[in-house]
Amino acid sequence: MPRQLFVTTALPYANGHFHIGHIMEYIQADIWVRFQRMQGHQVHFVGADDAHGAPIMIAAQKVGKTPQQFVADIAAGRKPYLDGFHISFDHWSSTDSPENHELAQSIYRALKAEGLITVRPVEQMFDPEKGMFLADRFVKGECPKCGAQDQYGDSCEVCGAVYAPTELKNPVSALSGATPVLKTSDHYFFKLSDPRCFDFLQSWTQDGKLQPGVAKKIKEWFTKDENGEGGLGDWDISRDAPYFGIEIPDAPGKYFYVWLDAPIGYLASLKSYFSAGGPLAKYGETRSFDEFMADPAVEQIHFIGKDITYFHTLFWPAMLKFSGRKLPNQVNVHGFMTVNNGEKMSKSRGTGLDPLKYLSIGMNPEWLRYYIAAKLNANVEDVDFNRDDFTARVNSDLVGKFINIASRAAGFLSKRFAGQLTATLGADGQALLGTLQAGRTVIAEHYEQRELGKVLREIMLLADRVNEYVDANKPWELAKQEGQDARLQEVCTVCIEAFRLLSIYLKPVLPALVGNVEAFLQVQPLVMGDAERLLGAHTIGTYQHLMQRVDPKMLDALFEPKPEEAPVVEAVQPGGEDIAPTITIDDFVKVDLRIAKIVNAEHVEGSTKLLRLTLDAGEGRMRNVFSGIKEAYQPEQLIGKLTVLVANLAPRKMKFGVSEGMVLAASHADEKANPGVYVLEPFPGAEPGMRIR
Ligand SMILES: [Zn+2]
Repeated sequence: MPRQLFVTTALPYANGHFHIGHIMEYIQADIWVRFQRMQGHQVHFVGADDAHGAPIMIAAQKVGKTPQQFVADIAAGRKPYLDGFHISFDHWSSTDSPENHELAQSIYRALKAEGLITVRPVEQMFDPEKGMFLADRFVKGECPKCGAQDQYGDSCEVCGAVYAPTELKNPVSALSGATPVLKTSDHYFFKLSDPRCFDFLQSWTQDGKLQPGVAKKIKEWFTKDENGEGGLGDWDISRDAPYFGIEIPDAPGKYFYVWLDAPIGYLASLKSYFSAGGPLAKYGETRSFDEFMADPAVEQIHFIGKDITYFHTLFWPAMLKFSGRKLPNQVNVHGFMTVNNGEKMSKSRGTGLDPLKYLSIGMNPEWLRYYIAAKLNANVEDVDFNRDDFTARVNSDLVGKFINIASRAAGFLSKRFAGQLTATLGADGQALLGTLQAGRTVIAEHYEQRELGKVLREIMLLADRVNEYVDANKPWELAKQEGQDARLQEVCTVCIEAFRLLSIYLKPVLPALVGNVEAFLQVQPLVMGDAERLLGAHTIGTYQHLMQRVDPKMLDALFEPKPEEAPVVEAVQPGGEDIAPTITIDDFVKVDLRIAKIVNAEHVEGSTKLLRLTLDAGEGRMRNVFSGIKEAYQPEQLIGKLTVLVANLAPRKMKFGVSEGMVLAASHADEKANPGVYVLEPFPGAEPGMRIR
């Protein structure tokens, strides 16, 4: 029976683009997912943007967008990363989706019905100017311990002290600069301290499904110290309006804290995938989302970073358990990515290795997939990107040991045997291929356990055996010898058969490359089970170069510091409006602007806006022009002055007569807020009739 796997990665916070830490997690999960698909299992691999919370609301305000628009703009930038690194999500959604609103509220109602929701007043810093409660990070002041200036409300970056924002000296709101006041408000809590939650979590986290290091860490969280501090406290799940989030049912002005609805976004994304008919199209799945999730055979598997373990191993399973839902089968925790032994790549800081820059300078995304896989195991260990190690693994292992097998054998087969493989293999060749086929079991086991480093080590050991065979049989010498055609064809066939088997094993890591291998070998898309068979008397296509080596210059370019960034210019609207779209000089010369003398100016009976101007533009005749400047000028201020006339404007019939042109005047786009109209006047010396160019 094929397994039914529902797989997720942590939802990225939609206040910025992906950094290398996200990409590492996606590569890890994607390799595992591709392996499962190649095993013939049914996989639904979904992600979503984590859209809610105060940081996004405030960031959106700063750039003058609605939070919805802000999040949509971030989401629109996801595709180049996901496509670029061959991440094969089946579906991508947002925690602001209707499915998530509905699921979050229904899970909350279930928890409330279980008696696990309680309300308590909480005293918190409040920004009187912004009219909102301030998260710890939005209060700044002097450290109560060491007196350092400009410290956040939760901890001091100078002395490391941890405190409550109310302890800060001279606190200010980081949003408005106002002095915050203390204000009390009712908050909603999920009663994690309830014995039912405590007992459930104690057994669920320690029954062997979590990684041993993770389970051990969680055990500490259950333990109270000698002062009775620590242990599982109730979880504050509400935030007061204004907040970008999901409204708490029957609690006006209260919203779910973003961390409540974020993991529910996994379910919501899967639900929206089901609504869109994705599983039906892919696997002929006819069950509804609810039926699917009620099936005990369905496995729910999360990939997350170590910084969010607490949320995913305590809050999340407790929410699911007591709302009567399926529990996670695996919560696979990984470490951070560091670069050149440098800084941490946590969720909030992403520097060092810019994924889009990596792609834009032409580096092969599968080099990075291969490298990250080589460094990953099933433990919670950080992965360091080291440029020399990266170059060595790609150039020596991937290209040197693997790709070269094909390039050394394919040419002889094409040139001498029209690409025809032979089914007649000698004992040495059969033994080698048998070893490679037998390797499948242990490789599959390592994939299953997410021991990706061991997967690649195993595959490279097999590649070593193949290269030993090539060196022992020297096809390039056989090719020169008389009467060795059959042996040459056999040796090259063994190489290609071996190359195909290794390609099957590497396909979860290198999907695009193996796609090209399939085209070259002229075979159907490879799955794990294909390793049971050999190609036999099969004809292959012409070998095309499959992969370049890493050029150190690329790594120089990748880690070259960014040029000093140009200061961010806020969108300026001079005079209250954007500059009009660019025109050419040809467009401009179509407008014939002339100096004109205002010979006469007078009020227009019945009009509150217009003055009637009599203009001399040097044509030997006078022009009659109506101009909306009555509020700004008395007629006598204008008579005798020079101004600018649009001389070739089509005459316009107005209520009071025909206007034969237009006089230029300046004004703000919003005349109500910025009143004032200013007629143009040339410098002295200009004469009526002169063209302005
Ligand atoms: Zn301090």
